[in-house]
Amino acid sequence: MKDYQKEFPLFKTKKRGLSKKFNLADPNERKKYFEAKAGQEITLLKNYLKKNSFIAYFLGKKNAGKGTYTKLMMEIFGQDKIGHISIGDIVRAVHQEIRDKKKKRELLDYLSKNYRGYISVNQAIDALLGRDTKSLLPTEFILALVKREIDKMTKKSLFIDGFPRDLDQVSYSLFFRDLINYRADTDIFVAIDIPESVIDARMKNRVICPKCHTPRNLKLFPTRKVGYDEYKKEFHLLCDNPQCQEVRMVGKEGDEQGIESVRKRLELDEQLIDKVFSLHGISKILLQNTIPVNISKDYADDYEITPEYSYQLDATTKQVKIIEKPWVIKDGQGKRAYSLLAPPVALSLIKQLVKVLGLDK
Ligand SMILES: [Zn+2]
Repeated sequence: MKDYQKEFPLFKTKKRGLSKKFNLADPNERKKYFEAKAGQEITLLKNYLKKNSFIAYFLGKKNAGKGTYTKLMMEIFGQDKIGHISIGDIVRAVHQEIRDKKKKRELLDYLSKNYRGYISVNQAIDALLGRDTKSLLPTEFILALVKREIDKMTKKSLFIDGFPRDLDQVSYSLFFRDLINYRADTDIFVAIDIPESVIDARMKNRVICPKCHTPRNLKLFPTRKVGYDEYKKEFHLLCDNPQCQEVRMVGKEGDEQGIESVRKRLELDEQLIDKVFSLHGISKILLQNTIPVNISKDYADDYEITPEYSYQLDATTKQVKIIEKPWVIKDGQGKRAYSLLAPPVALSLIKQLVKVLGLDK
């Protein structure tokens, strides 16, 4: 167990007197769930967001759920108040823009006015696109691209995913709010602690619809209907989207290796979290993905825990039966633990935001 992991508190999502169950996969039920468990905090934050904003940097291992938590925050507080800045998405967008003459010209124009660094704009673009593998992509260039993305939107509170990406970028993030003219706004590091076994299962079992690209997970997030391949002796998910006519969902090549394929990245992500713990003068929010099995009854409701799914084929009817049970994993201390679904973790984020922003006083 790493030292920093001891710092993450357990978060109680159980609310005394509230026995109603919520189906957290349904957006309407989710809204009621957040209202029931954090109604007061949501009101405080909504009032705050009318005139103020914050910048939150997500720090967590790849596939820790950063994108999912941001989407939940947008769902609760509105897309006009919460912005999502994903460095991965920005880089992918540049790959597209560069193919279009007009968009390429706009991009180069912006960069010529806003980028300063030791290699030229053209060299940096080549490094970004992988045409030039010798030059290291400068952080200054990434920051110019992020600034451009933020300049495009009206002022919102931001969840930034993918920056800082390297240890030397941490100090840039300390001054980033000045760069984007958010100088008086609170900035916060949001660190996520999640066991590698959870990331591994998310990666190994993820599948996607070949038609509508909806993501699912064979072990953790099945579709309503499941099929069986007699030849391969394998179960597979069938897309729920009516337009896809129960097409078979497929895995991505390389995913079967799970976390081993991203080992270096995971280690670096871990070092980043560790480094941020030693920083002074900036607020931190700590999100814990797991809850030890032996105390879970006091801390969380059953419907907040991630189930695991397995399948059985009825030999006579050829129907596939879906079996659901709580998923038990090992947490950072090697204890038997449950993994929380995304909404209870977002609940913890909301409550800690209220504290960090001083809205509870
Ligand atoms: Zn589909």
